[in-house]
Order: sequence, then structure tokens, then C-alpha cells
Amino acid sequence: MNKETEQFITEHNIPKELLFNAEGKPVSHVKDKMKQENQYFAYNTTECYQGHNFRSRSGHCVICDPAKITFTLRNVGIGRIYIACSFRTQQTKVGFTKEEIPTRMAKLNSRKVGQTDDWEVVKYYELLNGNKAELKIHKELEPYRVTGSTYGDTESRELFQCSYQKALEATEKIMKGMGIEPIKTKLLSHSLDKYNFRNLRKK
Ligand SMILES: [Zn+2]
Repeated sequence: MNKETEQFITEHNIPKELLFNAEGKPVSHVKDKMKQENQYFAYNTTECYQGHNFRSRSGHCVICDPAKITFTLRNVGIGRIYIACSFRTQQTKVGFTKEEIPTRMAKLNSRKVGQTDDWEVVKYYELLNGNKAELKIHKELEPYRVTGSTYGDTESRELFQCSYQKALEATEKIMKGMGIEPIKTKLLSHSLDKYNFRNLRKK
């Protein structure tokens, strides 16, 4: 892979799992193989008229047209695992979403998930295939799960009576165990002490 492509991939946070080495072949020749292996971008492929050799599976030069990346990543299953806290109810939520975080946070509050509207997303991880990780994290936090919520919806089943720190530890433990390297990690809150809730372990 040349320097330019390498730099481009880093700059645009393209997960390496999605990359395919075309070994000089045009995308049309390796497309089927890429599909089989769930890879969406080919490097070392034929050059575009600008001399780049990094293309999307549909054959577009993504260096010439980076907008194709956003579009592709949205379809690949890139999502975000987030940890949100509600100070008023002393509850923590771990969830997975394909939405942007501000959108997600607004929805938690407008739907009054957990009968409160003071949810703040404290930290999130952008990653591939987050739904599997989400389930495992929920299992890990099972002893703290909020039961008997009057809401039967899934979102309310993802609530835990534990601190942000506890949820963070569970999240990072599971991701590490699954060998997941987040594409991006972001801490959004600067008042972590506020979310040092009691960990109410069920018998
Ligand atoms: Zn190009």
C-alpha cells in the first residue's frame, strides 16, 4: 500500500477489516471475492486518472470522492456502543445505535426511557458489528439490571443500577475479549463524579 493511501485510510478512520488487497487487478475482477469476505475497499487496484489506486467495491476512486466513504460505512454496519447516565434516577444505560450520538441522546430523553429525560451520553465507541458486543455487555451487567420497569420496550430493559465506572469496565472487558478495536472512542462528559452511582447487585 502506498503512503498516500495509508494516510488517507487513517484520516478517514476506515477499519482495516474492510480493506482488500487487489494486487493490481481491477475492482471488477475481485468484487465477488470482496463480497464474500465482507470487504468494501480495494487497495493496490488500478489507478484512476489522478493516479490513485484505492477504490470502493463499486469501482469509484474514494480518494477523489471521499463522500463515498460515509455512504459505504453507513451501510456496512458501523455503529456506536454508548454509555448513558441519568443522575435523577441513578441509572446507567449501555446501548448500541447506528444513529449519530446527539440524535440518540435526544430520543432517549424525548421518549423518557426509564421514565426520565435527563440522559447524558458519557462515552461512546464507534465500531463494526456492535450488536454482538452490546448483548454480551448486557449479560455482564445482568446483576444490576433494572427490573419491573412499567415499560416493556427493549430500551427500558437495557437499564442498570450501577455506576458509570462499572458499565465502563464491563464494556471495555467485553470489547477486549472479543478483540474489538473501536474505530473511534469519545468521552463526552466532564462530570464523571456525578455518575458514581451505587452498584445495586440483585441477590
Ligand atoms: Zn482518484
